[in-house]
Amino acid sequence: MKTKIAKAIKSVLEFYRALGFDMLPINPPSPPFNSPLSKGGYRGVKGGIKGTALTALREEIGDCKRCRLSEGRTNIVFGEGNPDARIMFIGEGPGREEDLQARPFVGDAGMLLTRLIEKMGFKREDVYIANIVKCRPPMNRDPERDEIESCRGFVERQVEIISPEVIISLGRISAQTLIGNVALKMTALRGNFFDYKGIPLMPTFHPAYLLRNPKDKWLTWSDVQKVLEKLHVSVKQRKGKSAKGI
Ligand code: URA
Repeated sequence: MKTKIAKAIKSVLEFYRALGFDMLPINPPSPPFNSPLSKGGYRGVKGGIKGTALTALREEIGDCKRCRLSEGRTNIVFGEGNPDARIMFIGEGPGREEDLQARPFVGDAGMLLTRLIEKMGFKREDVYIANIVKCRPPMNRDPERDEIESCRGFVERQVEIISPEVIISLGRISAQTLIGNVALKMTALRGNFFDYKGIPLMPTFHPAYLLRNPKDKWLTWSDVQKVLEKLHVSVKQRKGKSAKGI
């Protein structure tokens, strides 16, 4: 009996450590749903241990001045969505609207992304959406290498906490950063699964590119079909065979 309890406590402590906790919070939220200490689990419960870990990470970022992007931003755009999401979308960095609202993908590109998510048969609140850099680059330029390096640890921790079944990277910068190869072109990236620390990663076009090149929407739709197949999402749940409506 004692061994069983000790093993159960050990598994919970290891889970907290994996999430980056050095100390245990007082009155911790329910333990991991597959932990021997758990009765029923926390999946789908707002907040929960993953929500707590994300809040702690946001607090760690604080009023960040780690790179020059802080000088021009209005708000840090941390990311939002379901901490238990099966799918995590990762873009490049906030644009004007996102900077003002402190929320990812809420401008025109964001509306396209929301339509894509809904066509996949999910609600926006079901998935998690984040960016590689958390502050808007001036004039929406690409984030520079050192800016990405200052920030990448945070998106990596978000992935670690959420632990999604699949990541969909949006655009070249996001894919190159996560895969760790800046030489790969979008043509070699999109439509192919890569491995991100054991999680399948599907790069596809950035929604802003699709706004400029609507004829390529079907390619993104075919990329996400591969993701849906991997997740065993039924054809019925997916809305339509063509990219119409994205
Ligand atoms: N483009 C991005 O890469 N991220 C956003 O949040 C908005 C636009």
